[in-house]
Amino acid sequence: MEWERIRKQPEDHVGANLQDYEEYASRFAWSQARALLDGLPNGGINIAFEAVDRHVLAGRGDRLAMRWIGRGDQVRDFSYRALGAQINRFANILAQRGVAKGDRVFSLLGRVPELYVAALGTLKNASVFSPLFSAFGPDPIKARMTIGNAKVLVTSEAFYRRKIEPWRKELASLEYVFLTECSTGLPADTIDLSAALAQASDSFETVWTGPEDMALLHFTSGTTGRPKGVVHVHEAVVAHHITGRLALDLRPDDIFWCTADPGWVTGTSYGIISPLTNGATMIVDQAEFDAERWYRILQDQNVTVWYTAPTAIRMLMKVGAEITRRFDLSKVRYMASVGEPLNPEAVAWSAATFGKPFHDNWWQTETGGIMISNYPSMDVKPGSMGRPLPGIKVGIVERFERGELREITKPMAMGELALRPGWPSMMRAYLNEEERYRKCFAGGWYLTGDLAMRDSEGYYWFVGRADDVIKSAGHLIGPFEVESTLMEHPAVAEAGVIGIPDPTAGEMVKAYVALRNGFEASDALRKELLGHARQRLGPAVAPKDIAFRQNLPKTRSGKIMRRLLKARELGLPEGDISTLESEER
Ligand code: AMP
Repeated sequence: MEWERIRKQPEDHVGANLQDYEEYASRFAWSQARALLDGLPNGGINIAFEAVDRHVLAGRGDRLAMRWIGRGDQVRDFSYRALGAQINRFANILAQRGVAKGDRVFSLLGRVPELYVAALGTLKNASVFSPLFSAFGPDPIKARMTIGNAKVLVTSEAFYRRKIEPWRKELASLEYVFLTECSTGLPADTIDLSAALAQASDSFETVWTGPEDMALLHFTSGTTGRPKGVVHVHEAVVAHHITGRLALDLRPDDIFWCTADPGWVTGTSYGIISPLTNGATMIVDQAEFDAERWYRILQDQNVTVWYTAPTAIRMLMKVGAEITRRFDLSKVRYMASVGEPLNPEAVAWSAATFGKPFHDNWWQTETGGIMISNYPSMDVKPGSMGRPLPGIKVGIVERFERGELREITKPMAMGELALRPGWPSMMRAYLNEEERYRKCFAGGWYLTGDLAMRDSEGYYWFVGRADDVIKSAGHLIGPFEVESTLMEHPAVAEAGVIGIPDPTAGEMVKAYVALRNGFEASDALRKELLGHARQRLGPAVAPKDIAFRQNLPKTRSGKIMRRLLKARELGLPEGDISTLESEER
């Protein structure tokens, strides 16, 4: 079905940062974007300095940087100056212990103020910050901290006892564990974070970092193999800043709410860095999704720019439009969405319900920042991700045998979404995996692994993933990681994991399992396996459903054909099955 284009009128973008897309894009240069930031006084660039210190030095220290709302509605306010002081304390507790430039500091925290302080304090100390999602179970945590060579972990006492302590001794690199929410009996070899912060000085000189110094390590998932550690450098802040300005229309007087958790890249790039470099006030809500709570926050906090995700929007749609009439949402100026396909229905619903549409945008952990977007001054075509950020060259390409690539210019022809490398927040490596990194590039393009189309007006339309990676509730899940944990259960001989369509979460993780001899398929065993996976992987990653099969379809080389599992599950054509092992047919 053709969805009606949402036309923008001049009154829709009064004061917007990007008034004329064509004109701005035609004269854009990254050096201009760089010039919007200050740089360190002695040259170099540091994300934490750009986020906080430069505002304090420019006399904007009293502005509200972060308003934190606790689960029980308690509020803590941090001015830029106060946030800066806490960041300095954290940087000092690292430096005092010899945690140095390049050392890896991991966090496993809910959305508590300490998370934001640790992220920026780590960067100010020139160490590398790696946030983990707090709903991960011990397996994904251990895998990521091992790959990342974690030296420091900041977590809560409860998470530590449940998810870290049982295997801590196996990770020799881990020297310091700082704990929040400590009880009186602190576990052995851990440090009470609030006591350490209270004793530390609140002044700290930014440790010098150059543009190519590593700053952030975000983990993402591929179809096979271990999670990939995506390396971002301090120069990335140039992209965090300008994309916030152009795609989210962030301005210094904005009250900005990004609902993403900093355990995922959106929650760091746009839930910490971009709003602060732009001098806005960011709202942080500790609690999980609740429609009424969300509308209350939008109203009571006078949120002007709201950045959320399709799963949440679909949950709001389920609750209905009626509830929104109880709230005054008139301060909300701009709404944006990211992370999964935003259905045209959701765009139309938001335009009808709020009088303004959600603006979809697209990016990945690897790109570090928004690459394709809708803008306040540009018509929205519901279902489209929008147009490339100024400075970003996007192509639709076709891969041929022997790795050759051809760009497809015909409108609405499907191909792989590709980007010309060279923007500041482009990943610099998959940590210690040169080969995997190299495979992302061909013919001068970075290949995103997504399939898309471009229309005659230059708008991009998402089609799907080119691989087996699953997107559930906005979280990228590698089937291999889930299969590996299932295989560790004594009953499991083989496991194949796919995403199946789900009306709210986009996709739902489903596993197919073949049992070892001596085990019988039963509902009790299914429940046991679901429990095993949930305990080890955490609720964000574990399968929601498990089906038993006698055998799983495999290629002749022994690889499980997830594509075929999916086609059979959905009753779709099986496609090319020439590589299927013969006894499986
Ligand atoms: P992540 O690296 O976890 O941020 O996931 C990136 C992937 O999420 C992309 O490669 C897409 O498959 C998907 N994605 C992100 N934004 C969008 C969007 N606006 N529309 C459709 N898919 C999206």
